[in-house]
Amino acid sequence: MRTVHIGLLLLAAAVTLTAARNLEIYSIDVEGGQATLFVTPNGDSMLVDTGFPDNNHRDSERIAAAAKAAGVKRIDYLVVTHYHLDHVGGVFQLSQALPVVHFVDHGPQSEKGKDAEILFQEYLSAARKGERITVKPGDTIPVKGLDVKVLSANGDVIGSPVAGAGQPTPECQGFARPAADATENGRSIGMLIAYGDFRAIDMGDLTKDHEYDLVCPDNRIGPVDLFLVSHHGTNPSNSLPFVHSISPRVALMNNGPHKGGNPEVWQTVRDTRGLIDFWQLHYAIDTDKQHNSPDTFIANVDASCEGKWIRVSAQKDGTFTVYNSRNKFEKTYTKR
Ligand SMILES: [Zn+2]
Ligand SMILES: [Zn+2]
Repeated sequence: MRTVHIGLLLLAAAVTLTAARNLEIYSIDVEGGQATLFVTPNGDSMLVDTGFPDNNHRDSERIAAAAKAAGVKRIDYLVVTHYHLDHVGGVFQLSQALPVVHFVDHGPQSEKGKDAEILFQEYLSAARKGERITVKPGDTIPVKGLDVKVLSANGDVIGSPVAGAGQPTPECQGFARPAADATENGRSIGMLIAYGDFRAIDMGDLTKDHEYDLVCPDNRIGPVDLFLVSHHGTNPSNSLPFVHSISPRVALMNNGPHKGGNPEVWQTVRDTRGLIDFWQLHYAIDTDKQHNSPDTFIANVDASCEGKWIRVSAQKDGTFTVYNSRNKFEKTYTKR
């Protein structure tokens, strides 16, 4: 009897090990908001943003479905990049669907008006169920097995380059610092997420003024493998110097059918040297074929969509595979 039990335990351990060799990143479709789930090989998890509220629990259910696919039963760190509806709005429903251990934010909300205050108060009451952590640039978010560095928060950015970065950005020449943003977008928590040699960035909805401070005149971030395109691919973010300086190998945009996916932004990202592919959560209906990737690289091609996700599986040597859950298409990008 005992031998049988030990045998089963060993088998279970082996299955767990083979199932979880990689860092897995799920870009979850919340129709033009953000919900990005990071799961380490040991099952530790970080969710960046919660999508929208209402819609009959649409977004919390989609996040829970992705968590189930990843074998995750709780969120160890929920990072709320900023307090806009499409990022923090789903926090209450999410915290009912999955237990959240730590709530990470940039501090008090900054916008005037009743709606902004209601969203913030709802966040605070959800966060009381766990431990609240307020971060500033340069901090580390201690997700086990991942190196998560805060690049921006609450309108400030890191004061010096991360290890290995600091080269001048040629595209800054003749480019003036964009006008200061006064909304929550500019306060977004932006992060560099490293897993061995694999590097990804998620800047929330960080605006061009702060992008400028991060890469002009010198690039404080350095090149990345995966760019989770800022602000759903809209124009107040994704400035040319920023996007060129991080020189992504793969871009992944969390646009909705009618939100984000701005053609100028799309072209700016597409034109960066070194970009191999541009993946999208949605076909951007209001633009044209020339400013959308081929359907193969798009998770949801119709306006009334099924909420399909895109998954990135990254290895420590920097090799990673992107998988489209709609058409099962996947492509591997070998290490640099
Ligand atoms: Zn947003
Ligand atoms: Zn926003």
